[in-house]
Formats: sequence, C-alpha cells, structure tokens
Amino acid sequence: MRHFAFMLAAVAAAAAIPAAAAIPAAVDLTAPLPPLLPWHGASERLIASPADPWITPAEARNFDATPSYAETRAYIDRLVAASPLLSIEPFGRTAQGRELYAVRAAKPGAARKPVLLAQAGIHSGEIDGKDAGLMLLRDIALRGKDRLLDHADLLFVPIFNADGHERTSRYNRPNQRGPANQGWRTTAQNLNLNRDYLKADTPEMRAMIGLLRKYRPALYLDLHVTDGTDYQYDITFAFPGWAGYYAHSPNIGRWLDRTYRPAVTAALARAGHVPGMYIDGNAENPDLGINLNADTPRFSTGYGDLARIPTVLLETHSLKPYRQRVLGTYVFIEESLRLVGGEGARIAAAIAADSADRPRTEVLTWKAAPRPLYVIPDFKGVTHKTYRSPASGRMEVRWLGKPVTQRMPVLGQVPDRIATLPAAWWVPVTKPDVIALLRLHGIAFETLAAPRTLTLDMVRLQSPEAKAPDEGHIPLKIAGFVHAGREETFPAGSVRVPSDQPLGLLAAAMLEPESPDSLLAWNFFPEILQRTEYIEGYVIAPLAERMLAADPALKREFEAKLKADAKFAADPEARLGWFYERTPYYDARFLLYPIGRELNR
Ligand SMILES: [Zn+2]
Repeated sequence: MRHFAFMLAAVAAAAAIPAAAAIPAAVDLTAPLPPLLPWHGASERLIASPADPWITPAEARNFDATPSYAETRAYIDRLVAASPLLSIEPFGRTAQGRELYAVRAAKPGAARKPVLLAQAGIHSGEIDGKDAGLMLLRDIALRGKDRLLDHADLLFVPIFNADGHERTSRYNRPNQRGPANQGWRTTAQNLNLNRDYLKADTPEMRAMIGLLRKYRPALYLDLHVTDGTDYQYDITFAFPGWAGYYAHSPNIGRWLDRTYRPAVTAALARAGHVPGMYIDGNAENPDLGINLNADTPRFSTGYGDLARIPTVLLETHSLKPYRQRVLGTYVFIEESLRLVGGEGARIAAAIAADSADRPRTEVLTWKAAPRPLYVIPDFKGVTHKTYRSPASGRMEVRWLGKPVTQRMPVLGQVPDRIATLPAAWWVPVTKPDVIALLRLHGIAFETLAAPRTLTLDMVRLQSPEAKAPDEGHIPLKIAGFVHAGREETFPAGSVRVPSDQPLGLLAAAMLEPESPDSLLAWNFFPEILQRTEYIEGYVIAPLAERMLAADPALKREFEAKLKADAKFAADPEARLGWFYERTPYYDARFLLYPIGRELNR
C-alpha cells in the first residue's frame, strides 16, 4: 500500500514498547481480522493440478506460503531451461548483494515489440505478483499462452525488494490474509523503494531505473497489496489520469483511462473478481468518502507520469485470501500483456505526443478540493459499526462482513502551487551528486567546457526547519522562497539543464525549489543551511552605530523592530546580527539555493 491510515509516533514511543516476549503466553496473537467474504471465480481454473510437474511452489502449498528467493529462482531456472521463449536478465544487486533479475519472455524475431514490465515485491510482504507471474510464465512457456507474445514482450521482475523478501515472518503484515511467510516492506537499508523513484538513493532503484531506460516499457505495472478499510473489491488499481484527473502526461492518462481501465475491469469481472479503483479510505469514518489524490514522483505512478512511462499501480486487498489475490493479479498481468500487444501503436503514439509536449507550467503541489470530484453511486462496501475501545479510549471501527451498496463521494485535490518553468536550470560542478542523478534518470544537459558568468533567478530560503526523519533524509520545511536576479559564475563542469526536452517536467520536479519531492525538499543541500564567516562585536557594534547615524530610514526600521519585538530588543546578538545582515560582509551564500533558473525563454 502507499498510504498509512494509522501510524504509531514511532520515534518517541519506541523505547516504551515492550518486547513481544513480555506478552503473556495465554494471549492469542492471531490478528483479529474482519470476517471473510466468500468467493469463487472462473480464475480458479488457472490453478495447476497437484500432479502437474510444473505446479508452482505457491500452488503446491495451496497458497498458504510463498517460495523464498532461492526457491523462486530455482523454479524459474527450471522453466527457462525448458522453454526457448524465456531468458533471465540480471539488472543489478541489492544492498546485501542479492542479484536482481527479470525474466524476459519473448518470441524470436527482428521486429521490436512493445514491452510490458511487471514488477512484483517492491514491498516484498505484498508478494502476490511474484506467485501470479510464475503461473503466467509457466502458462506462456508450456501451456499454450505463447500467443500473448505475438505482439508484445514481457519483462517480469519477480522480487524487486529481494533483501526485504528474505526478512520473513508470520508477523510482518498483521492486516493481511497470507501468505504465512511474509517479507518486509523496506529494504535492508530500511528504505522504502516506493518513495525512492526520484531521489534514487538505493542500489535497487538505481538498477530499476536502468532497466526502465533500457527497455522503455509501453506499460509498467507496480504490483502491491493494500490494507486500510474493508470493502468488496479484491483487485484495485490506479494511475495518473484516472477519471481524467492529475495526469502530467495527458495522452498516456487518456489511454489508460479510456482503453486500459475498461478492458482490465471487464477481464477481471469475467474471471469472477471484483475490480475497482484503488481505495484510499477514511479509517475513522469510512462513509465520508475515498480519496483520489495526485502522486508525487517519489512513487512509481508519479514518477512514470513525469518520465512518460505509462505506469499502473495494482493493489489487491489485504483482507482477501492470498489465493484469490494471486489469481486476480494473474488476470491483471495477462490482460495487460494482451492490451500491450493489441494497442502497441496507440500507446507509442500517446508516449510520443506527451514527450513532444512542452508545457510552460507545472503543478507542483495540490490541496484539498472544496467539494467531492464525483460520487460513485453503487460503491461495493461492507457494513461496519463503531464501538468504544477500552484500549484506545475512543470510538473504533469494527467491520461486519456484510456486503452493502452505497453512495461514495470521491474526494480529490485542486492545484495549489504552480511553477512557471524556466528555460533552463544551472547546476554547479560542486554538486556532483545532483549531476549524477540527472544522468541516471536520462535527463539531458550540456556540460560547460569553460566557466560562464550570467545573471540568473536565484532563490533564497526563508526559515528552513528540519522535519522528522524520512527515508534516510532529514527533509526541510521551508517557510518561503525569495527570488532575485543574481550574477553567478559557473565553473567548467557545471551543467545547463534545458526544460525544452521530453523529461523537462521530471527535471522540474527534481530541481524546482518549491517542488515537494525536489532534491532541496529532501535536503540534498544541507551545506547551505550553515553560515561560515563571522564578525566580531568590536567591529559590528561601531559599524552599526555609524549606519544608524547615517541612514534615518534604517534607524526608523530598527526602532520599530525594537518596539514590536521584545525578545529581539533584549538580545544583543540578534540586534547586532540585524545590522550584520545589512552589510556586504554578511555571507551572501547563506541559505542560497545554488541551482540557478534561466528565465528568458
Ligand atoms: Zn505496497
């Protein structure tokens, strides 16, 4: 899942949480999940019989458990050895050194076909995609479904977060009905890969971006499991452009909404599943509405939208049994592959149109819309009631497991901050990590062979503050951004990043200081937060006295400040600092964002 309905204030509380061993043995620790909704569907016929020599490890265990990294690879190696359609493509290594690989399923031939890249286990406790993919690969290789490869290639990543996949326990995902052995959400570096697309801190994400750039998939599936509220839907999905909202790549968004969405919905319904939009519900009052929000580029979908890669998030519902979820995921991947084959030319045209687009502005942040975007008249919900919990001391929701059809408002967002894009951004050679990230993402730039001096729009931060630790960073909350023209010299090796390029919006998301997932917001520039030269009191005090005597306006401003701000008036250092800031001796680079914006376009 992507959003937490509820999270412990972990940092402060961690020391007070007793070890599990302290709970008396008499307490039943089985997670008390809501009632199960009975289910049968045509997709059950996809399951191999127990006698089948090609039965997958999960099928062989009746979907009670999922195979380990090694066992998964052993099954795949056997399948690859048996089929000329399959091959293995290693594409990197995890932080702990495990090989990352994709299984490539393709028919031989010279013609380049559109590629479906299906990625399982970015959150490796949400592993439905892996076991669905093994079944589908088997059926493509050996069971007559090879026609799916007539007009498309499949690239299947069975386990993206391979280190987390091996941190296995039955206690990893208390809100989820199986498998019994679940992997862990984050990597061995405790980083969440589905927050890492833009900043790409992890070796896993760097490897994935390399794979995306190598194959330029026509469609990229990011396969998850979601918890949150209860409802009848078992297979939910999302993409930028859903119902026409939020897409930065409008042609791709339209294809996904008008062609892909109805086709996949119909295929799932035919197979007996209950497909629907990804549900980000209200945990305290589920009837208030569900959220349809824009994704920033830390997420697969937000990143794909800016990188012109059609990207779909699949979220099976954690309260449905593992078997049902795996089967729905199988149908989802299979139908996606069929669509990529049949729609390859139209997808390519949509990608080309969006890549050729040169928007002058970009919505950076969104705020809550004043009224619902629309209402789903026949939302397939589940009944609930509330009760007062002696544990929490407040009203809690109890799900009752009875299907109900209800009106459900879809709550959304409207644009908040909108940036007018500059002609280019200038990144100094002193920020090699930023330049390396631009290169990783395939953003075009020119490198200066000789120093250049020019006047750029430069931004100074107002009152930056550290936020809580997040994904290995201490992100910044910045109260304001002051723009001013400023002459700067960029040494040789600095780079100019034009916004006039297919990935101009991605560059903006990364480099515009006010972008919520910008490198500045992640605090890639902590060095600018520190002032490094000083002035002694015996110098600044007499200089300040001279300034007061010579400048009546300054004197009035100072006296007004003394009157209005008692704390300031009582603080000699602050008073002298006020004058220091107004002298040319002050550190002119303090709080200055070093990336310049070239405005004339
Ligand atoms: Zn997830």
